[in-house]
Amino acid sequence: MDLMEYQAKTVFAKHGVGTTVGEVVHTPEEARAAAEKLGGGTVVVKAQVLTGGRGKAGGVKLAANPDEAEERAREILGLDIKGHIVKTLNIVPAAAIAEEYYFSFLIDRANRNYLCIASAAGGMEIEEVAHTNPDAVAKISIDPATGVDEAKAREIATAAGYPADIIDAVAPEIVKLYGVFLAEDATLVEVNPLVKLKDGRVEALDGKVSLDENADFRHPEHAAFADSSAADPLEAAAKAKGLNYVKLDGSVGIIGNGAGLVMSTLDVVAYAGEEFGGVKPANFLDIGGGASAEVMANGLEIIISDAQVKSVFVNVFGGITACDAVANGIVQAFELLAARGEAVSKPLVVRLDGNNAEEGRRILDEAGLAGLERVDTMDGAAKRAAELAAK
Ligand code: GDP
Ligand code: MN
Repeated sequence: MDLMEYQAKTVFAKHGVGTTVGEVVHTPEEARAAAEKLGGGTVVVKAQVLTGGRGKAGGVKLAANPDEAEERAREILGLDIKGHIVKTLNIVPAAAIAEEYYFSFLIDRANRNYLCIASAAGGMEIEEVAHTNPDAVAKISIDPATGVDEAKAREIATAAGYPADIIDAVAPEIVKLYGVFLAEDATLVEVNPLVKLKDGRVEALDGKVSLDENADFRHPEHAAFADSSAADPLEAAAKAKGLNYVKLDGSVGIIGNGAGLVMSTLDVVAYAGEEFGGVKPANFLDIGGGASAEVMANGLEIIISDAQVKSVFVNVFGGITACDAVANGIVQAFELLAARGEAVSKPLVVRLDGNNAEEGRRILDEAGLAGLERVDTMDGAAKRAAELAAK
């Protein structure tokens, strides 16, 4: 999960990193009030979107007084920055910047290690600096067993080419940023720019933090960072039910057990759909190996509530959970949904194969569920589902 700048800075502040969090607002009027609250002086109005290069795109602007803060907020709200519409702003007191640097900790998967990338050339896109002036970008590997203490922090600052007069001020910030990286289970902590202020202090002026969702169980507090407004409502509903669901653009709803099977189902449906004017899958949904009737019902419920879905393809390969159990799950799911007042009203094509396939097929045939068709091959079922969606 990626954090917005103000969230990243909130996390920095929690770990004692020098930074200014400011005020988070959603309207021009709130921006004015925030600027007043911050003393009425010059502020920076900053778009909060999950993408970089906000400054270049006009999403970071200085405002000399609360009137201007309101005007700048009006300009920035609603702006489209690389496909992200600005809905949230951060109002921060303007910093008196002397110099800008680049700093980051990340996971170096290739080397099974942590990596620090740092450069005295900050503010601009680091990829560009790395391309035009690779010597200006220092890459320092970090041994997770020893981590980053004051001495290592000094080594990093020196390798980065940070000026000698800031080493004393920057080293403790680097140690604290490593604390953020470790304690928050981040996969990336990036500060661009890390700035030297005119009074000599060092501050994180911008922040980008990616959190490892596999470690969410250790961080119940991270749930508050999820941007519910950004997520698709169906994806949010699926997440709330613990389903592994991704919304796509097509019209054939897909349910399968196992990520690999669902991926190939998407391919097969897209291929079969070409014959019917370009019918495509409407989603990815993996109900997993040991799916219960309730999981099947929850999955079906999410998929049929997608208005774009015209037909549903349930593609199951019986393994640990045998086909008869899955078939019973489908029958019970129909009953559960009818009881919830959401009876399945879209055509459903089911392909069952693998462990106990015969028994599973018999259960489905005997249940005689309205709108449900059984097709025994994956290609055949994909074709039928695409055909039904095209009708
Ligand atoms: P980004 O473009 O998304 O990376 O957004 P940043 O937060 O890095 O801001 C872009 C640039 O705006 C920075 O590199 C600074 O030069 C400038 N900037 C941001 N905040 C301030 C501030 O408080 N004072 C001044 N003078 N400049 C700022
Ligand atoms: Mn930046």
